Amino acid sequence: MVLFKSPHPDLQYPENLTTWQWLFEENEWSPLYNRGSQPLGAYINAVTGERLDWAQVKEKATKLSTVLIRNYGLQPGDTVSLFSTNTVWYPLAMWAIVRAGGRVNGASPAYLEEEMTHALKTAKSKILITLPSALKIALAAADNAGLPRDRVLLLEGKAEGFTNIQELIDIGTHYTPNAPWPIPKGKSSKDVCCYLNFSSGTTGFPKAVMISHLNMISQCLQLRQLQIVEPGEQYKILAVMPLFHITGLVRFCTYPILMNGFSIMLPAFTLPSMLSAIVSHKIRELILVPPILIRIVRDPVANEYDLSVVRRWSSGSAPISPEIIKALQQKFPWTGFRQGYGATESTACISCHPPSHHDYKYAATGGMLVANTTAKVISLDDGRELGVGETGEICARGPQIAMGYLDNEAATKESFDSEGYLHTGDVGHIDAEGLIHIEDRIKEMIKVKGLQVPPAELEDLLLGHPDVDDCAVVGIPDMYSGEKPKAVVVAKKSIKDKHELGVKLLAYVKEKKVRYKWLAEIEFADEVPKSPTGKLLRRVLKAREREG
Ligand code: AMP
Repeated sequence: MVLFKSPHPDLQYPENLTTWQWLFEENEWSPLYNRGSQPLGAYINAVTGERLDWAQVKEKATKLSTVLIRNYGLQPGDTVSLFSTNTVWYPLAMWAIVRAGGRVNGASPAYLEEEMTHALKTAKSKILITLPSALKIALAAADNAGLPRDRVLLLEGKAEGFTNIQELIDIGTHYTPNAPWPIPKGKSSKDVCCYLNFSSGTTGFPKAVMISHLNMISQCLQLRQLQIVEPGEQYKILAVMPLFHITGLVRFCTYPILMNGFSIMLPAFTLPSMLSAIVSHKIRELILVPPILIRIVRDPVANEYDLSVVRRWSSGSAPISPEIIKALQQKFPWTGFRQGYGATESTACISCHPPSHHDYKYAATGGMLVANTTAKVISLDDGRELGVGETGEICARGPQIAMGYLDNEAATKESFDSEGYLHTGDVGHIDAEGLIHIEDRIKEMIKVKGLQVPPAELEDLLLGHPDVDDCAVVGIPDMYSGEKPKAVVVAKKSIKDKHELGVKLLAYVKEKKVRYKWLAEIEFADEVPKSPTGKLLRRVLKAREREG
């Protein structure tokens, strides 16, 4: 048995605390009780300066949590969906739910009705918290999912007939607070789910990944072990990536509290707004996805900003090309670089570059296994465990590996094996120095700008169109987005004008799906490759795409 082990010393993780108790109640990790002479960190809106420090988060989340329990019947184990852009109130609501023992589910604020309906049903949401701008879709989805409209709340802002959480916090002032929900006797923090994040995993539609309190706590401690904070500085991070994605949930909502740092929330991404936030908030470290790094090196707008304050770029969620790494190094020779590699199913990082490896010469790799994490690389042909430098599927085990998929035993069994290894669906090798190299992806998921596009979802939509007989969706390379979805379509025999149908289908997808899922291309074919049992052979199509 060939096992690859983390090079870092093992860490101890508390198994008796919820993430709320860990960061907000009296103990060695909470910045409220143990931060030396440092001022309290905070969530800060990058544009308006609105801020909530950790003491305010504790006070307000306690009130909100109490009101959600008393007036909205929130029970331990109930799901609350957050359907919003990045704002300081997002993590506030998140903490209130976690404090009550609920499960937090993040959904893309750009979702359209069908996607949001699927999200509410899959996560079994009891309450939906959104923004006035997303209310129309939120209500339509709530109706479809059977969620009563009086269970739809606003995160901030006003809309007639709807209550926002600030109003609920005011109501909470008149209540005696409920005690924070504890891990039940006889259970460990690894047995209790507190976050549900969507991932399509190996195959099929988005599923709700069950992330436990221990998953979140261990990932934050694993990351802290590798964190550089320069002497005399307080940790600071710019929350550019969305909070509904696991990276946002870990790096911008939770980890900054452990670090007693500042999480500067960028409400809406534009390149200039991000660059001016870097300059005005003196951001030294950035966690980004490859398409944004591409813009930083290629877009002339970036030259208008003095980015000499940046010390380190961090990239994750999708592969980054060697050209972009080289261009970044040339443009910002004083900076270091690191990657984080992992998935929603691993509460973000399986590996990342430790401080000893922030040199650009290691940048093309996914870094080294984080603490308490082991990996095996298995042969794609026969499942045999492979050795140093041999390419196969990367499988990882550690305290950050999620509990499985909610109500989906078959998918859980497929991705999480009986020894506790997550089968990532990523293909690569681990070299003699312990650096992970990701080379390919065998799972069908397409990644557009670091976000997941499950081909099955687009195929299901296209197959529902009356002029489509059969179809398959695959990812094709895209210089800016990394990948984009392409559909191979078998039109109904009666269709004469395929060009016209192509135009119709592109518009049809745009009408039903969030922008990053829009098709880049449609090709008409007489058939799509299938196995004798009728299973779609996506790899055949992918190989064809590669050969051009
Ligand atoms: P998600 O669950 O949305 O975070 O997607 C996880 C998938 O994104 C992984 O299984 C990989 O296919 C891909 N991914 C994440 N990080 C990296 C990375 N550093 N390099 C290459 N692919 C990555």
